[in-house]
Amino acid sequence: MKPLLKCTCCAEHYPLQEIRQRCEACGEPLEVEKISRASIKRSDSLPQTVLERYADFFPFAQSDSRLSLGEGFTPLSDSPRLAVELGLGRLLLKNETLNPTWSFKDRGTSACLHHAAEIGCTRIGTVSTGNMAVSVAAYGARAGMDTFVLISDTIPEEKIAPIAIHNPHLIRVQGDYGELYFESLRVGSEMGIYFLNSDVPMRVEGSKTIAFEMCEQLAFQVPDYVVVPTSAGGNFRGIVKGFEEFLQCGLIDRMPRMVCAQAVGCAPIYNAWLHGDSQITRIQTPNTIAHAIENPFPPSGNQALRKIREYDGLCVAVTDDEILQAQRAMAGEGIFGQPAAAVPLAAIRRLSSDGVVSGDDVVVCVVTGSGLKYTAALREQPICTTHCTLAQLREALAGK
Ligand SMILES: *Cc1c(COP(=O)(O)O)cnc(C)c1O
Ligand SMILES: [Zn+2]
Repeated sequence: MKPLLKCTCCAEHYPLQEIRQRCEACGEPLEVEKISRASIKRSDSLPQTVLERYADFFPFAQSDSRLSLGEGFTPLSDSPRLAVELGLGRLLLKNETLNPTWSFKDRGTSACLHHAAEIGCTRIGTVSTGNMAVSVAAYGARAGMDTFVLISDTIPEEKIAPIAIHNPHLIRVQGDYGELYFESLRVGSEMGIYFLNSDVPMRVEGSKTIAFEMCEQLAFQVPDYVVVPTSAGGNFRGIVKGFEEFLQCGLIDRMPRMVCAQAVGCAPIYNAWLHGDSQITRIQTPNTIAHAIENPFPPSGNQALRKIREYDGLCVAVTDDEILQAQRAMAGEGIFGQPAAAVPLAAIRRLSSDGVVSGDDVVVCVVTGSGLKYTAALREQPICTTHCTLAQLREALAGK
């Protein structure tokens, strides 16, 4: 039996064999029906792709190496010093900076391209100016697909270059960028262009593999907390769904508590959670250094809220100073994440000082993207150097 697309909110169902990204009845996001009987395809992991290893959990007839650049299988690094400092049992960093285009977006992009190919769609697009645009442009180029990247008219040239190098059709669109998300889905499905925007069902499917890998890396012992920096909500939903499916398949025995981490300067999900609302409210003037999580009206915000409540999760919002401090702390562990990717560590520091997390908790922070993707943020970080002449070298080294 073919799986269906289900509305995350109402009872509506849709076939999977067409381009459909949101519910026509209620406007909420759709998701692929949950898998409840499946197993991991264990094999020599070197030539295996993520979609091959977890093939049972995806509705694809087969995986195609042209639609992969080797995404996923990222390290889960223990940070014993930070764990001690924060008073945790264990702190682990899921290092998504190691993906082919340096962010977790590659997992969802590959899953979307597999779906697009299966339904006979050769044209793809996205609405983004950051990590997602780069990911879609790179994968589209590799797959030889006609690729459209819609950017806002106001984005700086320096952000365009890393997208343009892959040579997609780059279209600057004047007008409300939030509305462009919905308009591109509408126009795309009419014109046969598969728009793989931030939280479309197959992008959520791709993010499941972050949870799958975490479970395997922890020998199927579910962590107590998983902290995810959240913007549109697609990645958060995907990680939750990954744990749900492993639970349904009997591979794990409980759900972790999910922590939705946002920046104070743009915290629509946190605000709704704090006030007990079931619907998010648009942020009027978002402003944070964590640009990758600056969506003022997250299209999966309501669904993220439903999942946080369902599994006794939490929301935390942190300031730019806390984010920059966490970015330095992670760099001290050898991992250079962009500001958005440091938000989980900042959030866990907050939960630790509030006494929410404690001495035997196992916590995973999802480090979503590389610091090299956003070097402008480094201007906010202090640089310490000392100077010496060649003749003073011995002295300078001895002084340290
Ligand atoms: C896209 C992105 C996020 C947010 O993911 P959503 O699915 O939009 O919630 C967080 N961090 C980085 C680095 C990203 O690129
Ligand atoms: Zn619906």
